[in-house]
Amino acid sequence: MAEILDGKQFAASLREPLAQRAAALTARGCRPGLAVIRVGDDPASEIYVRNKARMCQRLGLFSIELHLPAETSEERLFEEIDRLNQDERIHGILVQLPLPPHLDESAVAERIAPRKDVDGFGSCNLGMLLKGQSGILPCTPKGILRLLQSAGVALSGKRAVVVGRSLIVGKPTALLLMRENATVTVCHSRTENLREHTLQADLLVSAVGRPELIDGSYIKEGAVVIDVGINRTERGLLGDVHFESAAQKASLITPVPGGVGPMTIIMLMENTIEAAELAAFK
Ligand code: NAD
Repeated sequence: MAEILDGKQFAASLREPLAQRAAALTARGCRPGLAVIRVGDDPASEIYVRNKARMCQRLGLFSIELHLPAETSEERLFEEIDRLNQDERIHGILVQLPLPPHLDESAVAERIAPRKDVDGFGSCNLGMLLKGQSGILPCTPKGILRLLQSAGVALSGKRAVVVGRSLIVGKPTALLLMRENATVTVCHSRTENLREHTLQADLLVSAVGRPELIDGSYIKEGAVVIDVGINRTERGLLGDVHFESAAQKASLITPVPGGVGPMTIIMLMENTIEAAELAAFK
């Protein structure tokens, strides 16, 4: 039976040191600041943005939320981003996804100044990750890596399978694992015989968004399983992994909720504090 890799608990242990770093910056006159822009009324986004604001408050960060109507034009959104790019109180800018369909998420990411791109979705930071240089890392992949490191999971030379190839989770996670010398396979919606791949994995990361797609029959005995999926269903919040059957095979497994989710938000705080440190010590 697997041990639980408790992201909620580990993320909680990172709060105090981060609050201390934020306080040290504030004492130097550079209180870390995060701006979150939400466009439209997606109910899940509203919850995510509220949680981010609460965490800022808890750690002593300055935060502002801009809520724009769903019909906001690209021009208007860009004006707000440009203003925040210039605002010295703000070290991190995040535009909550998904955006209404008339807005180009990729163009929006490019508009954010790279030094304030705390989601790490712009070409500059993603390019640095690709080149193995240290830019701002996307929060979910960074959180996954930190969680694995906290549990002492060996990655070098191990077979990692990442299911999902999104720019937000799948691709950057694969790059980060490669940086840690894992042998990485990326599977996606067109992959044939998914199970054949996942059964090879010492580390399986699922970022698909299909409830319980991966059950125990996809998991190699003793594997480490990271479930990124957040799926709202009639049975409540479910991951991509069927927890009970997967836990029979895995050695270590993240729950949903309480696994990767809390790591994502704490990494956002860390990225904002790091951006403020760079601004303060430049
Ligand atoms: P996405 O829709 O952008 O990407 C999904 C990926 O899954 C695609 O690359 C697609 O090719 C692949 N896929 C789809 N069906 C598949 C199948 N049957 N077999 C194999 N691959 C398949 O999603 P995303 O933004 O990467 O998010 C994925 C999931 O992770 C969602 O449930 C999302 O809510 C969740 N998420 C969680 C966090 C967190 O902090 N826990 C953060 C971001 C995303």
